[in-house]
Amino acid sequence: MKRLLLLGGGHAHVHVLKSLAESPAQSPTELPDELLDDDVEVTLLSPYARQVYSGMLPGWIAGHYALDQCVIPLAPLCRAAKVRFVETAAAALDPVARMVRGGNGEEFGYDLLSIDTGPVADMSMVPGAAEHAISVRPIENFIQSFKRLAVDVDARTKAGKSTAIAFVGAGAAGIELALSMQHAFRDRKVSFTLISAANTLPGKVGPRIARIIRQRGFGILAGQAAVRIDAGRVHLQNGAVVEADHIVFSTGATAAAWPRQSGIETDERGFILINEHLQSLSHADVFAAGDCATMADHVRPKSGVYAVRAGPPLAENLRRALRGEALQRYVPQRNSLYLISTGDKYAIASWGGFSWQGAWVWRWKDRIDRAFMDKYST
Ligand SMILES: Cc1cc2nc3c(=O)[nH]c(=O)nc-3n(C[C@H](O)[C@H](O)[C@H](O)COP(=O)(O)OP(=O)(O)OC[C@H]3O[C@@H](n4cnc5c(N)ncnc54)[C@H](O)[C@@H]3O)c2cc1C
Repeated sequence: MKRLLLLGGGHAHVHVLKSLAESPAQSPTELPDELLDDDVEVTLLSPYARQVYSGMLPGWIAGHYALDQCVIPLAPLCRAAKVRFVETAAAALDPVARMVRGGNGEEFGYDLLSIDTGPVADMSMVPGAAEHAISVRPIENFIQSFKRLAVDVDARTKAGKSTAIAFVGAGAAGIELALSMQHAFRDRKVSFTLISAANTLPGKVGPRIARIIRQRGFGILAGQAAVRIDAGRVHLQNGAVVEADHIVFSTGATAAAWPRQSGIETDERGFILINEHLQSLSHADVFAAGDCATMADHVRPKSGVYAVRAGPPLAENLRRALRGEALQRYVPQRNSLYLISTGDKYAIASWGGFSWQGAWVWRWKDRIDRAFMDKYST
């Protein structure tokens, strides 16, 4: 009996689960039934019973989707794949003893380990952020925070008061969330301020996004790092103070601490270093994919697009590793399609050096996102 342990129900792992659920005849390696059913015991650890598809989260905030449309329930996927599901986070890894300790105190041994646990928010960057700001990650917490924020906006509106919301960090995800919130609160008196340490907005689509957020009346404080956050106040590097009823902390994500602490090889930021087989550089029985990993020879941006793409080669190589076969090489594409929605069923697309925008781009994104979700609904 071999034990395959999957950590995290991220974008690559939902594909692994789907692949395990499919009939072996359809699987790439024509895996015989008995190898999966009887010879391999697969367990998935995840702190939540569902995977939120971040690509549709802004659409939920804007009111275009119900939350159920944006989440992949993990338990049914596991049942279909004959995978044991344990609702707990991996808290520590001992790659020598081949053991993972869950947040619930349980220990999970493995013969083969696959990690797709995504990134974490780095709230330690700005003192006071953890206490006084809403973090975008974990996304499950953000969903609860946004619900509370919406209740507060309603209460303030009923009391005849306006609401000020400040976003610290103006990356693509933060801007998409801010634009979506503005759309959600379009009938109420809500103002938005974006605070960004950088002077320009990210990527090739930066100028397009900048135009839209100016047109939409956002306050923009560019080139000003937040240095401290108190209750309702963001202190900037230049001494200025931004007052806000709600502060959303949406600076870039970072690596969880436990992979680096385990002794497996990581890059300087703590992301697991992997080779072209999606296999740890230091431990051949550990695989990793998505934002928690960095491919040593092909560094790509941390984004859902690459995490999704890694799913099929990861599923294939886990099967091959279980069977002791040669692993398949995978080189991620250089460019990928980025689609940023602006809340009002309008979106901006970029591919390499090209970019487009329009309501048709949102319909295109909507089709892609729904097709992704359809694949994993059981
Ligand atoms: C609002 C928003 C919008 C975005 N939009 C886009 C977009 O349009 N396109 C794009 O390419 N990227 C987008 N991104 C980035 C995208 O979300 C990430 O790049 C993507 O989620 C990475 O996928 P992943 O599978 O590596 O990790 P995740 O999607 O974060 O999945 C990791 C999973 O592991 C679980 N987990 C975490 N820690 C543990 C642990 N210790 N043990 C077990 N399980 C654990 C988590 O609960 C989660 O289910 C967006 C991000 C945000 C915040």
